[in-house]
Amino acid sequence: MFAVDDTIVAISTPTGRGGIGVVRISGSSATGTVRTILKHQAPLEPRRATVTEVISGTSGQSLDQVVVTFFPGPASYTGEDVVEISAHGSPVMLRQIVTEAVQAGSRLAEPGEFTLRAFLNGRIDLVQAEAVGDLINSVTPLQARVAFDQLEGTVTTCISEIEKSLFELVAKLEASVDFPDEGYHFFNSKELANTIHRLVQQTERLLADADRGRLVREGAQVVIIGKPNAGKSTLFNRLLGTSRAIVTDVAGTTRDFLTETLELDGIPITLVDTAGIRSTEDVIESEGMKRARLALSVARLAILVFDSSSPFEEEDRALIEETQEVDRVLLINKIDLAPQWTEADRRGENGWKLERDRIVSLSLLDTDGDPSMEVRRAVTELLLADDERRDVPAITNLRHIELLTNVSKAFQRAATVAADHAPEELVLADLCEARELLEEVTGKRTPEDVLNKIFAEFCIGK
Ligand code: GDP
Repeated sequence: MFAVDDTIVAISTPTGRGGIGVVRISGSSATGTVRTILKHQAPLEPRRATVTEVISGTSGQSLDQVVVTFFPGPASYTGEDVVEISAHGSPVMLRQIVTEAVQAGSRLAEPGEFTLRAFLNGRIDLVQAEAVGDLINSVTPLQARVAFDQLEGTVTTCISEIEKSLFELVAKLEASVDFPDEGYHFFNSKELANTIHRLVQQTERLLADADRGRLVREGAQVVIIGKPNAGKSTLFNRLLGTSRAIVTDVAGTTRDFLTETLELDGIPITLVDTAGIRSTEDVIESEGMKRARLALSVARLAILVFDSSSPFEEEDRALIEETQEVDRVLLINKIDLAPQWTEADRRGENGWKLERDRIVSLSLLDTDGDPSMEVRRAVTELLLADDERRDVPAITNLRHIELLTNVSKAFQRAATVAADHAPEELVLADLCEARELLEEVTGKRTPEDVLNKIFAEFCIGK
């Protein structure tokens, strides 16, 4: 079980030097703790900044001039009494303040423990707690926007609407099962199936742009692949030159290759240049191809670069064969040079173009405008597929997506059972399963190991 009866302390600002740094203390003895380490001895006025000094509990010596703010529970971030001490942003000083607070009876907070307490004290649900983590970790403005919306309750509201309808339905069915002779049979089986079907629709609406949501949250790996000299590095640099490079450690990045992360339409893209690969005689069996396959195995999309000034040959065909599993942009490069490709090659009419491939013909050395723009457009079109570019996707987190997919399946089973005139108990079994899964999303019933995993990914002090 998680402990919530002690008082925790941590530095809440990032490590390193800064203008100010904040130490946060939360718990029932937060005010008692700070009284031991502050010069200011009168009760702290709620939500008012108080200028005072931190003093050493042992020597009584002043350590730093600080601004202290007291947020009484339950209307605080954690739901408990919280005191924030803004000191000068010196790592040494901040650590000293934390040490003083620990000596005064607080415990060092675990990663994410302030947010965990906010969750355990019912200030926010689990979806919102996860949104806090996403907001802190966001690397694109769209990620930040989506996370903030979730923190404000976009997903929470949708789920509680589903829960409310489900609650009413289950209550009626249970009454009908418990009191079979008292005429509580509210529905005929068709009505019941229709009511459940509406729950399926509500859930599916939430899941509708889950793919794009995941893409926004997790980003995508895009691999550039092609024969030596086709122009892969040139493309890599072109794409980086025109896009905002961003710093992130998106999972799945293949470190063996040259990788950079950039933003395309709000999606963090990890671009992998396989240009280091040099093929041996047999391209499929070459070491390079093995490594390229590794990069491809986690890639969402591949950009195949071809040199149209040399003939379309077996090696090109092999690349095409190898990459059938991913979405592809086929970039026919070097059209400024004397063409060696036939018109049919160029249009992908020799049986090698898949329905969903995008073909772009250009010269990456074209100085008239930016040739990589066309490639960027093709990439985002493929990534966002048929999405009608709705404003902001509501749901982004794989944990939520998986649970809600199972909620939808449970509803669908219940609807089928209901339509088959099955006994109400059987319908109830599926509906109750859906209810439990919904409770797992919001954290009303989430296994402790899942909670541990979620909060362990937070930084200390949050
Ligand atoms: P990589 O081995 O696939 O990474 O290929 P590079 O990007 O290193 O390009 C190989 C050579 O082709 C370089 O000298 C580039 O300047 C040149 N190159 C790239 N794109 C074009 C193009 O569109 N037209 C012409 N004429 N040369 C190009």
